[in-house]
Amino acid sequence: MRIDVLTIFPEYLEPLRAALLGKAVDKGLISVDVHDLREFAHDVHRAVDDSPYGGGPGMVMKPQVWGEALDAVCAPDAEGRLPRLVVPTPAGRPFTQAVARELAAEPWLAFACGRYEGIDQRVVDDAATRMVVDEVSIGDYVLVGGEVAVLVVVEAVARLLPGVLGNPASAEQDSFSDGLLEGPSYTRPELWRGLAVPDVLRSGNHAAIARWRRDQALERTFARRPDLLAALPAEQFDKRDRAV
Ligand code: SAM
Repeated sequence: MRIDVLTIFPEYLEPLRAALLGKAVDKGLISVDVHDLREFAHDVHRAVDDSPYGGGPGMVMKPQVWGEALDAVCAPDAEGRLPRLVVPTPAGRPFTQAVARELAAEPWLAFACGRYEGIDQRVVDDAATRMVVDEVSIGDYVLVGGEVAVLVVVEAVARLLPGVLGNPASAEQDSFSDGLLEGPSYTRPELWRGLAVPDVLRSGNHAAIARWRRDQALERTFARRPDLLAALPAEQFDKRDRAV
């Protein structure tokens, strides 16, 4: 997968080259190019923002700078393809595991990091005339800029790509893959500070362990995220699911 990021703070995206993502880059599974938006600002101060029409606090990112930057970074590749453009904003559709799976199927993603009060809306409207544009929110809170949101999205997407995780089964068993939160996990020792690992996990009985894990996932989801449970279609419950 090819990933391009446009930002006024390229250094904020350094973690894209660390740990698991760094390994994925080294293995050639993803390519990451971070572009400095100011390269596309031509006035003496390299300004990327201006005051908002209609008044009000804060500044808005200028359409001319973003337009030129997106024309350059999102130019058609050798096969004439364009990226899917992801624009983080609190006003976007919620970023979920399902959206991560959707984005993981794309060969090329470009990200536009907003700052200040955000990007002039015409930038998104113009880009949408030639490529798929996704305005996404990583949660109901407001960050200072889109860079952290990009790190979140790229990490969630990249770990779904074949070869990125050491064991692909990990992603299949994670929270949200079956619509539920994952239950608790344990490792050695059996007893720690007077707290024991549940007997069933040491029983070697794989059917009983699978059943226990399913029950724990149901109970945890009911307690912490009843909205997820309510959204699960009836056919996703097996007949031995306890009434939680
Ligand atoms: N005025 C905007 C509003 O109220 O919706 C908030 C702008 S915020 C201070 C600046 C930038 O941070 C946004 O353009 C976006 O790129 C990013 N951002 C902030 N919160 C976000 C969130 N929850 N999800 C995704 N991006 C976010």
